Amino acid sequence: MIVDVHTHTPYGRHAAPAGRPPARPDRADSGAVSPDEFLRAMEPVDRVIVFGIAPLPPGDPAAPAVPQEASAPTARDGNEATAALVRTKPDKLIGFMSVHPRDPHLFEEIDRSVGDLGLRGIKLGPNYQNFDPLGADAFRLYRRAQELRLPILFHQGTSAMAAADLDYAHPRHMDRVATAFPDLKIVLAHMAHPWQVDCIAVIRKHPNVWADISGLHYRAWSYYNCLRLAAEWSVLPKLLFGSDYPAAASPAETADALTRVNDILDGTRLPRVPVDELQEILHRNSLSLLGLA
Ligand SMILES: [Zn+2]
Repeated sequence: MIVDVHTHTPYGRHAAPAGRPPARPDRADSGAVSPDEFLRAMEPVDRVIVFGIAPLPPGDPAAPAVPQEASAPTARDGNEATAALVRTKPDKLIGFMSVHPRDPHLFEEIDRSVGDLGLRGIKLGPNYQNFDPLGADAFRLYRRAQELRLPILFHQGTSAMAAADLDYAHPRHMDRVATAFPDLKIVLAHMAHPWQVDCIAVIRKHPNVWADISGLHYRAWSYYNCLRLAAEWSVLPKLLFGSDYPAAASPAETADALTRVNDILDGTRLPRVPVDELQEILHRNSLSLLGLA
């Protein structure tokens, strides 16, 4: 079984009208796709976790860290779009909600997303959503997620968007979150690149914290480093397969790159990433680890 733990609902900047020519598969930012293209890209995968990212709540005084068109107008709209996509392939797709910790209707939207929409986890991007991942509002959200057994996937690591606060996406903060909420299941996206060493330090010590490998393989040396360091620190079993489609590559491209991570070592004596463990990442049953099986 192959599980892709990280894909985006095609809306906002990821949306394309139906019937549009397919996005180039070799592009890093394949950008906008239609729901049909999204489902086609998911054909090689057995189960898929899909989500949007909630914007700032209306009237919130903070500056938006990402262009407004990057997300649905409200958290509610985004969660509706995710649920609508999941309804087209309910045996394959698992929807996560996205919410904003400062939303005055936060708990209402969580309850609606679980009860009415059937969404089963939460996606957060503290840097994109401009909130402190260690702040009181965020902790209130984590507490509720832990109570409801909703796993949280956090965007972690750098972003090219100038207004997206780097520190809010640093994985060292997740150590305190995981310590405060030991039963909360957490996924750190992108191995928090380029802070993969810090990511490894966090996933190594917390049984309920994992990292996904999405969006890494474009940088061959960084990618090798991520996986080789994970091997040396014995955390390859804590890595989950994810593509970040359509923001990044398709699952097929991501799986192909995973099998070729050692290719850059030809002609060197550098240590290889164990190939059998790479296959284990690809076939890991992430749903059972996250309590979603
Ligand atoms: Zn993503």
